Amino acid sequence: MVESDCIFCKIASGSIPCNRIYEDDSVLAFLDIGPVSVGHTLVIPKQHFETMADCPAEVLAAVASVLGRIAMAVSTATGSDGYNVLCNNGRAAGQLVNHMHFHVIPRMINDGIFNRWPSFEYASGQAEEIAAKIRAKL
Ligand code: AMP
Ligand code: ZN
Repeated sequence: MVESDCIFCKIASGSIPCNRIYEDDSVLAFLDIGPVSVGHTLVIPKQHFETMADCPAEVLAAVASVLGRIAMAVSTATGSDGYNVLCNNGRAAGQLVNHMHFHVIPRMINDGIFNRWPSFEYASGQAEEIAAKIRAKL
């Protein structure tokens, strides 16, 4: 599946260049052109699927099966103290490129990236209610 106006489909087909990190039959990893930290890498299925939920299990499995190895290489090569693996799904979640991808972002202690985690406490009964609603949609 290829979307004619999708930049990641063009990178996957080789019509737009990238700094390639890893490639197999179904997965490609390359450096993000606008990195949050040095070594910030994107891991994509070569086929076009918009979000994780659109992505068939076997495609997601192919990506997941190499994600840890790529993350380890990114982290070791950059000498990072840790890394984030992120997948933005939908505009509200910050997804700008509508071809499902995972960000691997090397992190250093006190690097100030994503330094606010806006957590809150559930009101009484709220957690049970939303958990039941989510289970019903599985
Ligand atoms: P997202 O906001 O999760 O959709 O992330 C899209 C990412 O793709 C951003 O971090 C961009 O910097 C990156 N990006 C966009 N165009 C390219 C490109 N041609 N090569 C590499 N990375 C790109
Ligand atoms: Zn695409």
